Amino acid sequence: MIDLSVVIPSYNEEGNIEPLYNRLNNILPFITDKYEIIFVNDGSKDNTVDKIESLCNRDSQVKLIDFSRNFGHEMANTAGLNYASGSAVVIMDADLQDPPELIKDMYCKYLEGYDLVYAKRKKRQKETLIKKATSKLFYRFLRYFSNIEIPLDTGDYRLMSRNVVNEFNKLKEHNRFFRGLTHWIGFKVTYVEFDRPPRNTGETNYNLTKLMKLAIDAVISFSYKPLKVFNIIGLFMALFSFFSIIYWIIFKIATGKPVAGWTSLITIILFCSGVIMMQISIIGEYTARTYEEVKNRPLFVINKTIGINEGNDIKEKEAENVSEKI
Ligand code: UDP
Ligand code: MG
Repeated sequence: MIDLSVVIPSYNEEGNIEPLYNRLNNILPFITDKYEIIFVNDGSKDNTVDKIESLCNRDSQVKLIDFSRNFGHEMANTAGLNYASGSAVVIMDADLQDPPELIKDMYCKYLEGYDLVYAKRKKRQKETLIKKATSKLFYRFLRYFSNIEIPLDTGDYRLMSRNVVNEFNKLKEHNRFFRGLTHWIGFKVTYVEFDRPPRNTGETNYNLTKLMKLAIDAVISFSYKPLKVFNIIGLFMALFSFFSIIYWIIFKIATGKPVAGWTSLITIILFCSGVIMMQISIIGEYTARTYEEVKNRPLFVINKTIGINEGNDIKEKEAENVSEKI
């Protein structure tokens, strides 16, 4: 029986694995001796996997899930949660931006009876103004567009009880927004606050394109508002053109002059086509995601595991249940 699992998605983090392990080693044994640290190597191009393997050889409480290629942060989280066997599971970044010392506070909240304890950032140190501004904008935008309450200024760093993890493991969607989904699940939620330090070593893996994809996934998987926005724009445009036609008819009758305006005509046509194209592309985003779900490919492919109890995999458990029924 494991009390606490710590899941760490890792992509090109060779310089951070060892320091993170050392910091965790100073904390976890004081919380419980029945813990496991699961590193998920998300197709790193550097020596991350070797670093993790050497830890696995030294310490049986360290475990590895090695992906066959880079499947992305969300899938690394998903795999970790699938295979974690703790009564409580913590998800944290590998770059030491999520201080391990906070696990103690989270675990205390868990013992008080909370199911989801997320870490809320008080202030961000040494991050560029642009990064600060874009993430602020991202959270405000998300709050407006999504139908569920996603707290502002939180990352993925959080502790989940077995209840939450079991429910999370039932979710099968391919375009997933981990933060949002854990709140969607519900149960008793609270938070602890911390100052977010800069990365230990290495570079952020989130470039603007990845962040945009995350933002679009987040909005689309939680809300139909983007489709509705264009209903309203379309309605306004229709009303505008209706009144404009009436105006120009009256103008023609009253003055007898022909209605001039090639430029305005072209502008209106271009404007309308732009709006229609945007609308089609938003519908396309929903359709493409629907297609992705219909194909129902596995969420990730595993190259190998070390120390992982394969029986924890929810899919295997489901397959067993089905074969028992047959
Ligand atoms: N990560 C991952 N797969 C990816 C990108 C990132 O597993 O394709 C991991 C990364 O190793 C880190 C965490 O996700 O542990 C957060 O990434 P990062 O620090 O680059 O994001 P930021 O903190 O800048 O938002
Ligand atoms: Mg980081």
